Amino acid sequence: MKILISDAFDASLPEKLSRFGEVTDDKSRLPEVDIVLVRSKTKCTREYIDEAKNLKMILRGGVGLDNIDLEYAKTKNIIVQNTAAASSIAVAELAMALMIALPNHIVEGTTSMRNGEWKKKALKRTELYGKNLGLIGCGKIGTEVAKRAVAFGMQVSTYDPYITGNEYATVVKDLDGLLASSDYISLHTPSTPETQGMINKDTIAKMKDGVYIINTGRGKCVVEEDVAEALQSGKITGYGNDVWYSDPPENSPLVNAPNLTMLPHIGASTKENLLRIGDIIEGQIEAFAGGK
Ligand code: NAD
Repeated sequence: MKILISDAFDASLPEKLSRFGEVTDDKSRLPEVDIVLVRSKTKCTREYIDEAKNLKMILRGGVGLDNIDLEYAKTKNIIVQNTAAASSIAVAELAMALMIALPNHIVEGTTSMRNGEWKKKALKRTELYGKNLGLIGCGKIGTEVAKRAVAFGMQVSTYDPYITGNEYATVVKDLDGLLASSDYISLHTPSTPETQGMINKDTIAKMKDGVYIINTGRGKCVVEEDVAEALQSGKITGYGNDVWYSDPPENSPLVNAPNLTMLPHIGASTKENLLRIGDIIEGQIEAFAGGK
């Protein structure tokens, strides 16, 4: 069996997988491999799949499958699996990190001091304690965020039409009500026709003045121009962003918007998570090799 590791995984993975056959990171060998391992960087488009003439399995280390043409893979009988449960803690901790960094001016405090400034009076902090957190989407990651936010003394509600209850968050059926009552909004949905562009001029207008928004879900769930405009006007006080229309972003109006803390899509990239992902992938290949 030939396995191509196409994106960044834990360094221990090639040796772990060598018991199943040859493991390579040489992307030019795509036409000969049986299994390809991707994260979000490699785009498994129709053309990519056509080039991979021997491909039987695509393993996505992580959650979102929007970089894989699932329909086309199905027509070619290519098995596609992700490591859905692995990344929840890593992404939830990053969402919390952004939620803490913004109202505490962690980035601005550091850069201003590097510039020789002492903004002790200017950097006014606010607390998470007692604030309303509205989660849009409350599956595995949303739930981990809710659990942590409750520990901070936040009141957590969620709009997720596909769940009936959650241990840590009150499930509400009315998105507008959630937008109007939340001090913080955190996005945890996949990118689907229903969620794409759901944070836009109109939905932002329904939010509290001075709201904070965190997006570790998917870039396409927001209209970037509308978010940038609301940051300029002060309607949104702070935006914490890990996800983009494309990796890296091309001409995104967010990059130069004020009061924004941004990251290069590293939600799942903890050392611990990459090890977890590696273990799950090893099990998936073992099952495949054993005909399961
Ligand atoms: P999940 O499937 O467990 O949860 C997603 C939730 O979204 C579900 O409960 C679903 O009912 C809900 N949902 C779907 N459509 C909705 C809608 N229109 N409105 C409100 N809720 C809706 O997935 P998860 O593991 O929690 O991951 C959530 C998302 O996080 C992924 O789809 C992916 O886009 C993103 N993610 C980002 C990173 C990162 O690196 N930043 C890493 C992993 C996952």
